[in-house]
Amino acid sequence: MNYKIALLKGDGIGPEIVDATLPILDKIGEKFGHSFTYTPYLMGGIAYDETGHPLPEETVKGCLAADSVLLGAVGGPKWDTLPGHLRPEAALLGIRAAMGLYSNLRPAKLYPPLKEACPLRAELAEAGFDILIVRELTGGIYFGERGRNQGENGEEAYDTERYSVKEIERIGRVAFEAARKRGKKLISIDKANVLESSRLWRETIHRLAQEYPDVSYTDMLVDNAAMQLVRNPAQFDVVVTSNMFGDILSDEASQLTGSIGMLPSSSLGEGTNGMYEPIHGSAPDIAGKGAANPIATILSAAMMLRFSFGLDKEAGAIEEAVNKVLESGLRTADIAAPNEAFVGTAAMRDAILQCIIDNA
Ligand code: NAD
Repeated sequence: MNYKIALLKGDGIGPEIVDATLPILDKIGEKFGHSFTYTPYLMGGIAYDETGHPLPEETVKGCLAADSVLLGAVGGPKWDTLPGHLRPEAALLGIRAAMGLYSNLRPAKLYPPLKEACPLRAELAEAGFDILIVRELTGGIYFGERGRNQGENGEEAYDTERYSVKEIERIGRVAFEAARKRGKKLISIDKANVLESSRLWRETIHRLAQEYPDVSYTDMLVDNAAMQLVRNPAQFDVVVTSNMFGDILSDEASQLTGSIGMLPSSSLGEGTNGMYEPIHGSAPDIAGKGAANPIATILSAAMMLRFSFGLDKEAGAIEEAVNKVLESGLRTADIAAPNEAFVGTAAMRDAILQCIIDNA
């Protein structure tokens, strides 16, 4: 079968990590009898430079027409002073909204060969963790009404956190279903002691929990969750939370794995056309140096095979190859221990490719 993939390479290291991923997908296609057709579209700073807008209409159309979308990263200091709606990051919110991508899955797993990179105490790193954060992606404060006023004390600004039962239910279902396929444990994170939107969130998830008696379910306040993640990350299996809390907690969880360069993510809506991207940004400090770790993007492509195309075996082949390469001791700079030798993007790509070829 042929799958049409829209590529949003973006800015900074984006083009380097996406280009490193395509030969891996092609090799998987060759091995398992599929083909992938790639169509690049402009998004982010490069799109602003070339068209005057970070998310051109043609890009939105191309992504909607594709079977799935692979994104590198957008942004960089060059565009930091643009007004909000023209900044590269605005394109991310725009494409998520246009594609209706309300569920963002962010695995944060500590790979045993990388436990030295975990900043937590040795016994916590030894215990390991494998967390799936399910973040609501098209609602909440990032999309609520915002503005500025003149108030009693001069200029004021406000943003609004707003959630409907429908939005909470649909993300809740994604999380309960995911928990069913994993450790059957779900923690819902909110701030129900203060926020009305969180109280509705909690009531709704509680109601939903009755449909999933096989999944053990608890609530946790977001401030406690931030602490528990560093105190005992192994207690978490699947976590479901709102857009902003998920944004912050998933970055915290990613740091516990030792490298942001390792972590993939998927964003899906009602259909199978999703967007897959590393959780890191465009890393302007290392762009153009051939030093970026391509693993987060390669694992994002594996998530695409599994969640958008239903190709479990093929996704597993990529994940196994990544594991083997890490076990062999190969490291890019971001995951190397102090004084440990490291390689660049191309050598890491080639090693993963070779593993896929060898694992006949
Ligand atoms: P960043 O994730 O780009 O970089 C943080 C640090 O991690 C840097 O030292 C960088 O070199 C390193 N790093 C990140 N990815 C790496 C990789 N694959 N291999 C090796 N090292 C890696 O975060 P930042 O510096 O805060 O942001 C840079 C730009 O990216 C900003 O413009 C920001 O808005 C944007 N950004 C974009 C996205 C996205 O496109 N989804 C997400 C986050 C940030």
